Order: sequence, then C-alpha cells, then structure tokens
Amino acid sequence: MAEEIFDVTIVGGGPAGMFAGFYAGLRGMKFKIIDSLEQLGGQVSAMYPEKDIFDVAGFPRVSGKQLVKDLEEQLLRFKPLLVLGEKVSTLVKRPADNIFEITTDKGGKHYSKAIVLTLGMGSFTPKKHPNAEIVPYEGKGAYYGVLSLEPFKGKRVLVVGGGDSAIDWALMLEPICSKVTLIHRRDEFRAHESSVNKLKASKVDVKLWYELKTVKGNGKVEEAVIYENHTMAEESLPMDAVVLNFGFQASLSFLKDWGLTLEKNKIPVNQKMETNVPGIYAAGDIVTHPGKLDLIATGFSEGATAVNFSKTYINPNDKAEPGHSSNLKW
Ligand SMILES: Cc1cc2nc3c(=O)[nH]c(=O)nc-3n(C[C@H](O)[C@H](O)[C@H](O)COP(=O)(O)OP(=O)(O)OC[C@H]3O[C@@H](n4cnc5c(N)ncnc54)[C@H](O)[C@@H]3O)c2cc1C
Repeated sequence: MAEEIFDVTIVGGGPAGMFAGFYAGLRGMKFKIIDSLEQLGGQVSAMYPEKDIFDVAGFPRVSGKQLVKDLEEQLLRFKPLLVLGEKVSTLVKRPADNIFEITTDKGGKHYSKAIVLTLGMGSFTPKKHPNAEIVPYEGKGAYYGVLSLEPFKGKRVLVVGGGDSAIDWALMLEPICSKVTLIHRRDEFRAHESSVNKLKASKVDVKLWYELKTVKGNGKVEEAVIYENHTMAEESLPMDAVVLNFGFQASLSFLKDWGLTLEKNKIPVNQKMETNVPGIYAAGDIVTHPGKLDLIATGFSEGATAVNFSKTYINPNDKAEPGHSSNLKW
C-alpha cells in the first residue's frame, strides 16, 4: 500500500496534544493524533475526569470530563485521523527524504513530515500494591483511579495514598459516599497545601501512619486490613471499595532511541518548542525549559507554538504566526 504522508503527527492526545491538533487544523495541515489510551484527554480523562479544574483560562470552573469534551469539539471540526489504543514504539527519520517513520505496538505504520510529541509523563501505568492477593479484586472493589463517581455512590470507601490524586479522590468521593477513610503511611502529604487544608476541613476520616495490608471478601471487596506502621497493629475495616494511589510508572528511556536528548526524564526544548532533532517538536508535561510549569494552560500554549513552528519547518516560506482565528475563513 502507498505510504500516506501527513504534515504533522501528534503523539499524545492529552490536553497539549489536543490543542496542538486544533492548531494544526487551523493552519490547514494534514494531521493525525496517536495515543496509547482508548480515549483522548490524557491525564485528565485517565485520572481525574470528575474533578473540577479552576485554572483554565475562560473557564471559571470546569470538570475534567467537560474540558476534554470541549477540546474534542474544538479539535474534531478538522476531522483529524485519530489512532487510539496504539503506543508509538519507534520513531525514525529517513535520511533519504527526511520523512519520519512511526511504528506502533499494534504494528501500525505512519509517515509524517514533522512530529509534535505531547507524551505527558509517558504512557502511564499505575504502580500496583505489592500484595498479589489484591489482584483478583481489581475492578471488583479495588481500583487504581476514580474514572466515574457512579460505582462509589453510598459506599464505604478507603483511599490509600498521600499525594494530589489520593486527596482529590477522597474529597470528590466524600459528598457521595456513606463514609470515606484515607490512610497515608506518613504524617506529611505530598499534595498541594490547599487540598490538604480542604481534606482537614472535610468529613474524610484521615488515618496517618497507616498502610493497607490486604483486602478480603467473597468475589468483591468487603473488608480492608490496614496496619499502623510503627506498632504493626492491624485493624479490619468493613469496606465496599478501596482506591489506591502509589503514583505512576513512567519509563521514557525509549526517547533516547528516537535520537532525543533527555534531561531528568523530560525533553529539553527551545522557545520554538524544537527538540534536538530537526522536525521533532514537543510540548506539555514532557518538556523542560527555563520557567517550565506542568499545567494544562502552559501545555496549550506550548502545543500551539510547536505546531505553528512545525509549519515553518515543513515550508520555510510559511509564517509561524497564524493570524487571528477570528479573521480566518474556516
Ligand atoms: C490529580 C491531578 C490533578 C491535576 N489538576 C490540575 C489542575 O487543576 N490544573 C492544571 O492545569 N493541571 C492539573 N493537573 C496536571 C495536568 O493534568 C497536566 O499538566 C496535563 O494533563 C498535561 O497534559 P499533556 O497533554 O502534556 O500530557 P498528558 O495529559 O499526560 O497526556 C499525554 C498523553 O500521551 C500519551 N502517550 C504517552 N506516551 C505515548 C506513546 N509512546 N504512544 C502513544 N501515546 C503516548 C498518554 O497515553 C497520554 O494520553 C493535574 C494532574 C493530576 C494528576
């Protein structure tokens, strides 16, 4: 089959990639987005769709789910090719014609004149609890995220962890659950101060220096066994669900095989969002540059910059400046 060459291929369909895609469409570029997840939205869809976000310009308050829906609406008007559920495994620039050849773990092959990498923290897999006894309960009361509030309504829920995700989940669940308990193995949280203050003011039962030993139940979680990690004294709590957060595994070492420089698991970029490989741009949480902030708002801006400069890479006669969207006919 003849190779179909796209102008720009965006790897990663999180907020930065989705908005980069929108700009590719606005600039009349032929583009596709590839993501290893089955849905768009990156961390927002995978980790906190139900959470409210307050720091996206123009939205005083928006749920993660709604933000992704609006980004989708903005993006899909350009009818991009979406390749979901496929992880990009190799990226090679052909010396003969400078076309990038991309292969995915499903055997997909893609060809592109330029690339924008919006990989976030890589394809993220939650770090699992070391006790294998918990594995059979996954999806049956043991979860590594809160993708929908529905299964938790009226239930007794144990949240395990002390980072932003764990605290966000506990605060989201508290109003709709009969009881929420949060255990954390230390007495200091790794979360934002404002979230910790909200937690302290909430009805969530917070138990510090506690860890989860195991869960028990007949085919589904009915009990959580926790222990105080100084005395090792165990307690059994009747529970309908446990939500665990031990962070995520992110391996980005494969980026070196793509010829990219890495600095502490991030891709260094310049002000045009150029990486060290001509034709490969990057934006969002995956990048580092002086003053870098890992925020949705900054990812949007970097995505727009990356795509507009990729246009000038493809054709140096094109301008990076897109003009005002309100003046364009599209
Ligand atoms: C609990 C929580 C709350 C947050 N709250 C806020 C907030 O209130 N405000 C705010 O601004 N930010 C918040 N953030 C941070 C925000 O979500 C991130 O900054 C944002 O999602 C980064 O967007 P991104 O597009 O760069 O990357 P991501 O959202 O991480 O998306 C990257 C995408 O790339 C895909 N991918 C990675 N590797 C590959 C590969 N090899 N092949 C194919 N696909 C790949 C991944 O599957 C993923 O979908 C929060 C984060 C968390 C965890």
